[in-house]
Amino acid sequence: MPTIDEARRALKRHFGYDGFRPGQDRIVSALLEGRDCLGVMPTGAGKSVCYQIPAVVLGGITIVVSPLVSLMGDQVRSLIEAGVRAAYLNSSLTPGQQDTVLRRAREGSYQIMYVAPERLSDPRFSAFSRQAEIALFAVDESHCVSQWGQDFRPSYLGIGEFVASLPRRPVFAAFTATATQQVRSDIERILGLRDPFTIVTGFDRPNLAFSVEQLGTKRKLDRVAEQVAAHPADSGIVYCSTRKDVDRVCEDLRGRGVSATRYHAGLSNSERTENQRAFVNDDAQVMVATNAFGMGIDKSNVRYVVHHNMPGSIEAYYQEAGRAGRDGEPSECILLWNDSDIATCRFFVEADSGNERLTPEEADRVRMTQRRLLASMVGYCTTTQCLRAYILGYFGERSERDRCGNCSNCAGGFSTVDVTATARAVMRCVHELRGQYGKGMVADVVTGSRSQKIRTAGLDHCFTYGSVQDSASTVKEVIELLASARYLEVSEGKYPLVGLGERFREASEEGFRLEMKRVSAPLPAGRSRS
Ligand code: ADP
Ligand code: ZN
Repeated sequence: MPTIDEARRALKRHFGYDGFRPGQDRIVSALLEGRDCLGVMPTGAGKSVCYQIPAVVLGGITIVVSPLVSLMGDQVRSLIEAGVRAAYLNSSLTPGQQDTVLRRAREGSYQIMYVAPERLSDPRFSAFSRQAEIALFAVDESHCVSQWGQDFRPSYLGIGEFVASLPRRPVFAAFTATATQQVRSDIERILGLRDPFTIVTGFDRPNLAFSVEQLGTKRKLDRVAEQVAAHPADSGIVYCSTRKDVDRVCEDLRGRGVSATRYHAGLSNSERTENQRAFVNDDAQVMVATNAFGMGIDKSNVRYVVHHNMPGSIEAYYQEAGRAGRDGEPSECILLWNDSDIATCRFFVEADSGNERLTPEEADRVRMTQRRLLASMVGYCTTTQCLRAYILGYFGERSERDRCGNCSNCAGGFSTVDVTATARAVMRCVHELRGQYGKGMVADVVTGSRSQKIRTAGLDHCFTYGSVQDSASTVKEVIELLASARYLEVSEGKYPLVGLGERFREASEEGFRLEMKRVSAPLPAGRSRS
């Protein structure tokens, strides 16, 4: 049995690192002892080392299941450069190349082989696996087995059975950056890990300063430019939710004399590669991109990540924002959002059927999950709690302090208004309208709008008509707030409807209170916020 010292020497020899990071050493030790493992670590924490080093020292072959087909080539190339005998097997290879890889694997040429999950149902691959001496079977992005995760893939459901069917069961390890308890227990159960050594390493990134700003769509451009201007010598990433926004923001920055470049799926391969290279080599200062950018990119001196739009989940947000400050130096993560971002996300939930074919039931569950994930994201935008505490709490980690002192909520600059009465009226109205109308109509009814639409629908006879004093826009915010806490539910799609959420009963209880964040005064234009 190889020892952890041998593993440490292999780490130095192949990757040049002086030691394991906290967490890595314990996983590697457990794997060397033959124990199944579940590693929950944020992106960038160093999950790959946890199975690559055992692959080197264990003998036999290590199989790594990964859904990221487009990254396999890069991963394998850098392993080969590090002197590890590595290969991958996926649909980007011709049948002839696949045969060669399998033949060489059979001859014992590889220490590690990456495969896409679909490969497990290929008869040639399973024939190979039954004969091969598989020492370790590792599953990357293992949250894909869970319908509670952000990225469910039916092809992941077959992994457990595949491993169980092997004549000699290898050590089994799963890794993910999604730490919610529900997903964690799904991984364990569905993959069939046996009494796994489980480790959850710190999600906190103390050098990142988080802030949230609610801004109108027009103001966002200025705000992005302001941030860039305040950091003339630094690299930064601006994430947008659509290609159109990427083009617009990039254009705008260039117009202001910034060396900005862009990245999204609508560009040619060569332009993407060139723009990425320019950013990584500091030839371009700012990268404006969709979420297609960033995976597998190792640039440690990114000083800020601005989200021009709100993403669909905390997982996605934290992963993207986390690309700032990999070197541990103070860096900023700024999220700009407004109501239309929520609408865009709802639209995506409806449109996105994922990249695998789902049964109608699976698609329903995925939509339900995405709605929940979105609600938590909106919660982040609207919470008055410490932003860091909110994120860590979301990932099931308790923060040491209630207030981190390094986020926009800790910095204050807002007050809270009690909107309990409005919230109650809205809940009554949604109940009365039986979830048949959208946000705008509900707001119009409770504020007593005299619009033709309301009168035509006869809604001015509602019992809750005109029951609140606030403006319609405040009421709409209250609706989002109620939805983010799941008192209400806003369906996805082109015309989202407002219905009662799973916690709606609690809102009629005595102790129910709802507070809303009110940003006191926008900073005067031209004043830096850094
Ligand atoms: P993850 O898969 O968790 O997102 P990676 O495995 O890609 O993370 O590792 C992230 C970065 O950390 C990489 O640049 C990697 O080289 C580096 N890294 C990982 N382990 C160590 C270590 N023990 N010492 C120094 N750097 C490390
Ligand atoms: Zn804080």
